[in-house]
Amino acid sequence: MESKINLLVELNKKHSELFCSQKLERDLYRAKHPTNVVAFKCMDGRIHLPVITETPLGIISPYRNMGGRFDLGWPLLNVSFDDAVTRAVQKGARTLVLVTYHFSKGDVHRGCAGFNYDCGASKKSTAAFRDQIRRIYGVENQVVFPVLIGIETDNDSLILHGDNEEVVDLAVLNEKDEESLISMIHRLFPNMPERIVSDFLPIIVGNLNQIGETKKHKLEAQLVHGEWVLAVGKGFDWLHTPNMAMIVGPYDPNIGEPIKTAAGIIKSNWESGRIEKGVVVLASALYGDAADRAKTQERAIFMKKLSEDIITQNYPEMNDYMNSIAVVVNSSTMKMEVIE
Ligand SMILES: [Zn+2]
Repeated sequence: MESKINLLVELNKKHSELFCSQKLERDLYRAKHPTNVVAFKCMDGRIHLPVITETPLGIISPYRNMGGRFDLGWPLLNVSFDDAVTRAVQKGARTLVLVTYHFSKGDVHRGCAGFNYDCGASKKSTAAFRDQIRRIYGVENQVVFPVLIGIETDNDSLILHGDNEEVVDLAVLNEKDEESLISMIHRLFPNMPERIVSDFLPIIVGNLNQIGETKKHKLEAQLVHGEWVLAVGKGFDWLHTPNMAMIVGPYDPNIGEPIKTAAGIIKSNWESGRIEKGVVVLASALYGDAADRAKTQERAIFMKKLSEDIITQNYPEMNDYMNSIAVVVNSSTMKMEVIE
């Protein structure tokens, strides 16, 4: 277990170095593409949008929860998302919202365990969330623009669901020159402001660039679920090694449910013999400046205790094989610090 925790610390260190070294790239990208990009996605650790869209780390702000289930009626999520929109508006920027679900073409069991591998149900849930965003900010609004996107994890390709009901799978797209892509975005999203179209384009181009890459090693690594980290809270952008972690965001008021589901998936990984017994609970909170650090620390400690209690109540047999740590992550370096 000790070595597993060291592995996580090392992984974070490497990611933090990369994140810091990309600062200028990130600033340059933002100067060229000012639109604030937010993604709502599943807790499944295989989904890493910066990699599959070739964008610098930190450009796409992620919200994660089991199955990519969200509801803007959740008080904490409501405030957090609205703050992000307001901050962007103050800088003169619009917000593009990527509302995502995921599945695998090759094997249903490489799909979304958070939705019992039912792709239809996860698509329906994410479409309802997109509609909720529209309802709140206004269907005709030109500032917050939600888009429904499927992520096919065998090829890491994006599936764009147009507002005209047309669906485009980027893995089988023929016309890939810039002009054709722009007219495709116009066709799919007739209401999308030009600024967002220009900033959506590099995300699509980035995805097209990496679809062709050899994914064989990836398929082997993620044949079926094998996660052993239960990550709870925020600041997990660095934790995207295939099959390592289930990530639960802090937003669901019934946060016990996704924690229980994630613990259940990890337990079934043991039972099937896919991994040896053992779970690391990693409770994390993200802070901006030093003044925030103290309260952030309390959040991480609270979520660690909560996760331990939920696991003990629901799966007492996991207790002997559980190790948990509370950490805080600095948002400007993504460096993690172990608190307890
Ligand atoms: Zn999932």
